[in-house]
Amino acid sequence: MAHEHHIDIDHCKGCGLCVAVCPKKVLELSESVSPKGYFPAFQARPEDCIHCAICCTMCPDVAITICEVEEQAESD
Ligand code: SF4
Ligand code: SF4
Repeated sequence: MAHEHHIDIDHCKGCGLCVAVCPKKVLELSESVSPKGYFPAFQARPEDCIHCAICCTMCPDVAITICEVEEQAESD
């Protein structure tokens, strides 16, 4: 099962907690300002993400979600 890691920039206030706790150093704060006026977190190295969900648990604004997604079958 594949995973999809998503950061909702409308809820992220750029506190950097997720960046600090990620054990794989996947996350960084953007240099571009969000519509809300913050510098939101993003996955700078998504290939290193192990989907441990520590960032989701730590985010005080519940801006990070990790979903299990069906991998596309090569049928039909
Ligand atoms: S912990 Fe949440 S609010 Fe803080 S930078 Fe990360 S995603 Fe944004
Ligand atoms: S799920 Fe784990 S490895 Fe992936 S960005 Fe969040 S804390 Fe880092």
